[in-house]
Amino acid sequence: MTTVLGAADSISKGVWVSRAAALKPETRLFIDGAFRPAHDGATFDSFSPRDGRLLCTVSAAGVADVDDAVRAAASAFERGVWSRADRRERARVLTRLSDLMLENLDELALLESIDSGHPIGDARRVDVPQAARTVRWYAEAIDKIYDEIAPTPQSALALITREPLGVVGAVVPWNYPLIITAWKIAPALAAGNSVVLKPAELTSLSALKLAELAAEAGIPAGVFNVVPGLGPVAGQALGRHPLVDKITFTGSPAVGRGFLTYSGESNGKQVALELGGKSAQVVLADTENLAACAESVAWGIFYNAGQTCHGGSRLIVDERVHDELVDRVVAVGRTLVLGDPLDEATQIGTIASAKQLERVLGYTDIARAEGADVHGGGRVRPEGLTDGYYVEPTVFDGVDNTGRIGQEEIFGPALAVTTVRGAAEAVRVANDSPYGLAASVWTSNITTAHAAARELRAGTVWVNTFDASDIITPFGGFKNSGSGRDRSLHAFDAYTALKTTWINLGESTLPTD
Ligand code: NDP
Repeated sequence: MTTVLGAADSISKGVWVSRAAALKPETRLFIDGAFRPAHDGATFDSFSPRDGRLLCTVSAAGVADVDDAVRAAASAFERGVWSRADRRERARVLTRLSDLMLENLDELALLESIDSGHPIGDARRVDVPQAARTVRWYAEAIDKIYDEIAPTPQSALALITREPLGVVGAVVPWNYPLIITAWKIAPALAAGNSVVLKPAELTSLSALKLAELAAEAGIPAGVFNVVPGLGPVAGQALGRHPLVDKITFTGSPAVGRGFLTYSGESNGKQVALELGGKSAQVVLADTENLAACAESVAWGIFYNAGQTCHGGSRLIVDERVHDELVDRVVAVGRTLVLGDPLDEATQIGTIASAKQLERVLGYTDIARAEGADVHGGGRVRPEGLTDGYYVEPTVFDGVDNTGRIGQEEIFGPALAVTTVRGAAEAVRVANDSPYGLAASVWTSNITTAHAAARELRAGTVWVNTFDASDIITPFGGFKNSGSGRDRSLHAFDAYTALKTTWINLGESTLPTD
């Protein structure tokens, strides 16, 4: 994890609470370089999951507003103000954006925390620094990528070049608003595309601040647009727009598949989908350090209150280590500080919305009905807060992997434990899932580790760890977890098209006079 702050940089809860009260976030659409309300004046309410209170009302982009944003993006692309700019110039501007994100670290972190319920400590030490690093990483990469020359006969020269696609529509979720936004917009912009971003309705505020910083950094008008709004209206309008060349989406499988329909019914635009998971943490009988393993398993699911697409929500454990491991995981869960996101001591913040809270608590009832032993799972309220969406770390033990608890994405701090015997059964059960985003395997045998990693059907497999990651590695899923990859240099594949330029050189001999 990225950090630019030390313990000495901690700020007291009282200061954060008063800063939050004084915040006046930008709430209007950002189109063609300017903030403005929606054409029809529509807005939606944004509540803080910290205490359920109304934070602000945000402009809701309608179809006409999305059309304006896409046309501004397409026009900027055609004019070449960004798409044909020297790569070093795009690198300079994006590096400046990354610097500005760090200069505005506390404000961005506060917006992220009150809007999404992330603990302010995580927002300052992880979310904002990682998002800024992502922008810088693609800025630094873009002028170090070479194109190709094909092995033609001597009578020809064929250049294979990467060109930006045009207008990229990015539709993002609420669980890691800034980080996921950066994974999408940084490579898209670095490659020369124009972008229209539709943030999640629950978390528009950090995206709008990013728009302000992007303009300050020098991204030309029209190249980066932000259209907060309702999914079925603004998201759908983007998905169906004939001038959008690519949709990059992270969210639920149902909505992701909807984007494939929008594409098929409009211009056949490319669609890349990251659709969540039900990641298995496989623990084999020869795991040596069960204390470290338990710590990792617990953080693998409870971080961000379990609202992580690749969260390790299934523990597939060998019966020979089951009792000790589960006792330890439950114990770690009890030690985690669940509390007010504006307190830097908090390790686990809130569920993102009242609707998600209801959904997560509903799964505790389902687990009981399916015969699981339930540890934790109750709603709690930190001292001093009268409302807010807090759920204790939860362990469902004795889960049948084929039931709803074993198969469905809960998206809360809930771990489903299934007991197996031997590595072969463990891997078979781990693979018995519609999803394939990530998995881990714990073993002290390197051969078993390699064999299990090869067999596990997941976009990322960790060995003796969980969630070790960085912008340098690709991220995405197999099976229902989606298609395409965010992060690493491979992300440029998603935002560029290959062009062949074939030049006839004729006989290709030197003139004699
Ligand atoms: P959604 O898939 O509904 O939302 C993701 C994005 O899609 C948001 O920007 C949303 O806008 C937009 N959207 C919603 N409906 C449409 C539509 N009809 N057309 C176009 N765009 C649309 O996820 P939810 O927020 O509803 O979460 C539901 C579940 O999805 C979670 O419980 C979790 O299981 C899973 N999920 C997975 C994530 C992942 O990282 N893969 C992230 C978030 C959720 P709006 O916010 O306005 O609805």
